[in-house]
Amino acid sequence: MISAKEVKEQLRIVDVVKYYGINVNRKNKAICPFHDDKHASLSFKRGMFTCFTCGEHGDVIDFVMKYFNLNFREALLKLDKDFQLGLSTLKLSDSEREKIKRQNHIRDVRECRKQENNSEIKQLEQRYRILFDAYCKGNKQLKPYLDDLDKEIDWRIEQNE
Ligand SMILES: [Zn+2]
Repeated sequence: MISAKEVKEQLRIVDVVKYYGINVNRKNKAICPFHDDKHASLSFKRGMFTCFTCGEHGDVIDFVMKYFNLNFREALLKLDKDFQLGLSTLKLSDSEREKIKRQNHIRDVRECRKQENNSEIKQLEQRYRILFDAYCKGNKQLKPYLDDLDKEIDWRIEQNE
């Protein structure tokens, strides 16, 4: 059986959360995925994560359990599989494999939606710049349209946070 200690020895929590799509900034902080976070409230230190806003905390295994809604054993198996730790001597049961696959799928869909939204934001920002330029050159009736566009861009950015 793979031990939690072995997994923790081989993995840096920051590498793991980055691998699962969390952006960690230079100060070792990230937007917390466990509450509706607007600032980077989640911090990483000595192999642990802590959110100063919602209070979630734990080690790398706790993170994977919470993030993917897995039990302890499933989280260990997932880390072993994703990071090829080669620690597993236990075979996954069919239902465990199915559950991990489903969790990965949910994450992929979420990630994909986010990327679509990002490219949408880029297009809107580009349109905004063109219209704003025209507005500055004296096309004043563009004002309400610019305001709407501005609101829409803000709204979309919020959705991605
Ligand atoms: Zn939080």
